[in-house]
Amino acid sequence: MIADDLRFTTTAHPAPVDADERAARLVDPGFGRVFTDHMVTIRYAEGKGWHDAVIGPRGPLTLDPATAVFHYAQEIFEGMKAYRLDDGGIGLFRPEANARRFRQSARRMAMAELPEALFLRSIEELVRIDRDWIPAIDGGALYLRPFMIASEVFLGVKPASEYLYMVIASSVGGYFKGGAPSITIWVSGDYTRAAPGGTGAAKCGGNYASSLIAQAEAIAQGCDQVVFLDAVERRYVEELGGMNLFFVFDDGEIRTPPLGGTILPGITRESILTLAAEEGLRVSEAPYALDDWRADAASGRLRETFACGTAAVVTPVGHVASAEGRFSIGNGGPGAATLRLRERLVAIQRGAAPDPHGWVHRIA
Ligand SMILES: *Cc1c(COP(=O)(O)O)cnc(C)c1O
Repeated sequence: MIADDLRFTTTAHPAPVDADERAARLVDPGFGRVFTDHMVTIRYAEGKGWHDAVIGPRGPLTLDPATAVFHYAQEIFEGMKAYRLDDGGIGLFRPEANARRFRQSARRMAMAELPEALFLRSIEELVRIDRDWIPAIDGGALYLRPFMIASEVFLGVKPASEYLYMVIASSVGGYFKGGAPSITIWVSGDYTRAAPGGTGAAKCGGNYASSLIAQAEAIAQGCDQVVFLDAVERRYVEELGGMNLFFVFDDGEIRTPPLGGTILPGITRESILTLAAEEGLRVSEAPYALDDWRADAASGRLRETFACGTAAVVTPVGHVASAEGRFSIGNGGPGAATLRLRERLVAIQRGAAPDPHGWVHRIA
């Protein structure tokens, strides 16, 4: 099966959203509620391999109620953005890393692994056909959501033999309403996100399903996001529901919890590690206990904390709340290193700064 050679069949939308209506929707798109005209579908069947690659009008799916994903939740996804570059071109940020991670997620969930070249082509084709949906606003981008479900119609418990891979695209502005200068996070005492040997490193819907009750608790507590502790000792800070965390100290150290199967290997996380080292910070991937976080924030040894991910980029954490009470980081506002790293990352992503690592992938 030479999936890399698979040809896409393209059917342009017969009645795309007209230009005026599209412009109106792109003024203030928010996050994840404005969608483009097209979508990608590629199918997989055991014995047949990847087939039927289609770019067509975006629309509802019809699925049998016994489709495996509804019952045993074999589902994975990715999240990435296409940016309008300063020179008018369009760029993706490190899409090869998303392609690789998608394959790794598939492997963990016992799903068919989409060849990385096919993943990349599917993204490029969709961005090309829906390029007019990139909002020309500050922070605007086309958020791409590749995902895959077990599509076999069968209730037996086993890895499915058929899969449906899709890509949809959403015009987005900033992730947090009003571009929130800093967020307050809630430390979940009752729930954990991922245990050793579990699925924490896979980008699967199931991880999100199990995190939503803790996220709802965070909102009920007047916070913006939930942060999880490790599942074994309930002591070390791991990550938010969908973002990695960084800590900046007064001695020039910048620290993030180590990957080890329970933390999602963020592409933003990895990029920040590289940029921080270039900024002269001493980067470390080491565990950080909640008690130390609280004590270091109080003593001033901890200067800054920020969350990062594709959707929200780099987001300062100003306050931390838990059942034991609240504490603030620095003066509660964004710190200097946080802002500098965010600016550097965004400048590279948007083609406004040199790209020495070859992170920006131009769409021809
Ligand atoms: C996607 C995700 C991230 C961020 O990953 P990026 O590649 O930087 O977007 C962090 N944590 C979780 C749980 C995620 O699902």
